Amino acid sequence: MFERQFIDSLDFANNNRELRGEIAMTEMPRLQDKLVVPDVGFEHGHKEGINYTLRGFRDRNGQPMLKVALDGLCQLRCQRCLQGLIYPIKLVSQLRLVENWDESSIDEEDEVDSILVDHHLDVLALFEEEILLNLPFAPRHPVGVCRPVKEGYITEEIDQIEKNPFSVLSGLRYK
Ligand SMILES: [Zn+2]
Repeated sequence: MFERQFIDSLDFANNNRELRGEIAMTEMPRLQDKLVVPDVGFEHGHKEGINYTLRGFRDRNGQPMLKVALDGLCQLRCQRCLQGLIYPIKLVSQLRLVENWDESSIDEEDEVDSILVDHHLDVLALFEEEILLNLPFAPRHPVGVCRPVKEGYITEEIDQIEKNPFSVLSGLRYK
């Protein structure tokens, strides 16, 4: 079980600290409605879970930064057949730490996102946010791979999805 960790983000960057480990998808509550029931299990011996690396540093301009690297597998729901779809998560993002949002506009041309300095940053929530931002809105198996499901079931599920398309993207960040 992942032990919920908090860091002082500015201190973390200033001292080039690093955290590594592994988390289960089931430990990220905001992702659960995107995922197929976790105990469905994986075929072909895949293991669900995410390896993470969180590194703090200062960039060339002396700006405090966090680098998040996440690598693993999850099981999303195919929006065509509603069955499980193994989806690799591989993402690296760099986040500039700013004291307030005015600072974040200093350097618009690069593609670095900003987050506010947080002396009690919830590491798991940060990873969860990064994953949410990078999941496809409507994941689908490649054409021809979907397994058939009874039509009534599909219709009902699609209605639900349309009623509540994107309730989760809010929170922490970002500009
Ligand atoms: Zn499918």
